[in-house]
Amino acid sequence: MTTMIDVLVIGAGFAGLRALHGCREMGLSTSVVEAGDGIGGVWYYNQYPGARCDVESFDYSYRFSPELEQEWRWSERYATQPEILKYINHVADRFDLRRDVYLNTRVVRAEYDDGAMRWIVDCEDGRQWNAGRLILAMGQLSAPKQTTYPGQETFAGRIIYSAQWPKDKIDFTGKRVAIIGTGSSGVQMTPVIARQAAQLTVFQRTANYSIPAANAPVSDAEDRMVKTDYRARREAARNSPSGLGFVPDPRSAIDVSAEEREAAYSAAWNRLGFGFALTFRDILLNQQSNDTASDFIRRRIAEQVEDPVIRDLLTPRDFPFGTRRPSVDSGYFATFNRPNVKLVDISTAPITAFTPDGIQTRDAEYPFDIIIYATGFDAFTGSLLKPDIIGRDGVQLRDKWSAGPISFLGLAVQSFPNMFIIVGPGSPSLLSNVLLSSEEQIDWLTALFEHCRQNAIGEVEASAEAEQDWVEHVNARAQETLYVKTPSYYMGAEMPGKPQVFMPYSGGVRGYRRILEKTAASGYEGFTLNKRAVQGVP
Ligand code: NAP
Repeated sequence: MTTMIDVLVIGAGFAGLRALHGCREMGLSTSVVEAGDGIGGVWYYNQYPGARCDVESFDYSYRFSPELEQEWRWSERYATQPEILKYINHVADRFDLRRDVYLNTRVVRAEYDDGAMRWIVDCEDGRQWNAGRLILAMGQLSAPKQTTYPGQETFAGRIIYSAQWPKDKIDFTGKRVAIIGTGSSGVQMTPVIARQAAQLTVFQRTANYSIPAANAPVSDAEDRMVKTDYRARREAARNSPSGLGFVPDPRSAIDVSAEEREAAYSAAWNRLGFGFALTFRDILLNQQSNDTASDFIRRRIAEQVEDPVIRDLLTPRDFPFGTRRPSVDSGYFATFNRPNVKLVDISTAPITAFTPDGIQTRDAEYPFDIIIYATGFDAFTGSLLKPDIIGRDGVQLRDKWSAGPISFLGLAVQSFPNMFIIVGPGSPSLLSNVLLSSEEQIDWLTALFEHCRQNAIGEVEASAEAEQDWVEHVNARAQETLYVKTPSYYMGAEMPGKPQVFMPYSGGVRGYRRILEKTAASGYEGFTLNKRAVQGVP
């Protein structure tokens, strides 16, 4: 069965549902297909204990509806995963989105029909969509790394992947639990599981910087204050470098006195969470400035950990703060002071195998009942490259991106007309508040669709030249930063064999928005707008 439609959106996370709402408001017939059996994207899958957002709730929420903003009451500064999932389900009901969402519907193939200017999209269950526009809202952290070790199948206990958290309630009481991985997921679940389990052992390959979440309940007064002038808050976020609402001190960290710098870091440490990285404008640009921030964090870590050996192991030293995604934690470091918690350094003595009883490292065997992989994702491109996406003249997206993702504005790819990517590589994406960035892109896209409708444009395609210029611009901006000094998932270093290129756009959400605005104002310079009017193309 083939469904003819104006717009097909792949992915029912925050971005996909927002795209559905935006396109529907324009009167375009729109469907969302989603591989999973629930809406919410990463917030649906990552149901591990302690999962919460590290962008403030007031900012990690949709801005498109002032009524929604006023109605919804966040209970904490940093919302937990269950509260975020409740929010997205509320939004789906509030705006009657579910009737156009097809769950358990995995796209396996999408091919552009050049003559008709339409996408033919095939799903695993045999259903087919024929769409005038294709929006890829598949997430940047939606393809979990399927880490395995030899002998894994012999382990008698339970193995859980944090990004595919099981639906049954896991009771850690009396259990010996292992966590492999100390990125944000591992850092968030460690204190929570430690409070319940008989024993918790964390296997760390790389020590990470982490900043206290300074989480707190949202008081009625704070709620009222934000809601009295929510627009101002949204504008502040839109005009801040990463969409978090923080504007850095415009001075260099090394141009202020040691006392002033320490005071600024202390204030940010106790209040800004992730925004600590924005205390001074050049923390991620200048090595010397970064050293001051990295050193400050190392001292704060040292204060939290009693055992000198564990303290040393937990202290990141090999890379500048922020060049790998820092975590925002709620008591992570102090958890290692508990008698039931162990840290195992697998950078020097790697895991060699799983045994029926547990984990074997080069130096020792550790028995467990439950082993949790918190080993992350094939970031940015993993989910986009899973299905076969075939553009004009049979070009496969996988082939086109074999040396790294290429796009114009992160939104469009030459040879793939009428296909648009939300918060993908080449856009601020994971360097920003992704919710804000996805709304910016979707608003811009719907304006483009309106322009097409008014001008009888059937086909929109990034030009090869614009794409080349954008890739160069993204690289040039990245080279100005310290990000490129460190192997990280920003650089494609998290997966063996992945092209090592800097994936997101580091020019900031405000800078990026100005480029989008300029592009629209120029009549969409950089895109080829094909006026052939074809019946059925919106
Ligand atoms: P991650 O940051 O990529 O961390 C993965 C961890 O697993 C790292 O410590 C890594 O060590 C380790 N690891 C990977 N492969 C391994 C292997 N084969 N053996 C042993 N250790 C291995 O993944 P994540 O913690 O899931 O977080 C990913 C991103 O999701 C975050 O950066 C953030 O953007 C997002 N996130 C956000 C929130 C939030 O909003 N609160 C929460 C969770 C996640 P190496 O560092 O040595 O590679």
